[in-house]
Amino acid sequence: MAVPFRRTSKTAKRKRRTHLKLAVPGMVKCADCGEYKLSHRVCKECGSYKGENVAK
Ligand SMILES: [Zn+2]
Repeated sequence: MAVPFRRTSKTAKRKRRTHLKLAVPGMVKCADCGEYKLSHRVCKECGSYKGENVAK
């Protein structure tokens, strides 16, 4: 089995990990109540979608 020739330095490790980050979900403001919600989803605060109330 191949083994690393050198230990990865702190800098190299940190530089590699700059690409590892949490993905931020697509949050938009609700048109009705102004609360942050996921786009293309029904607002959980007021139950509206595309300006229409779809939840009871
Ligand atoms: Zn809303």
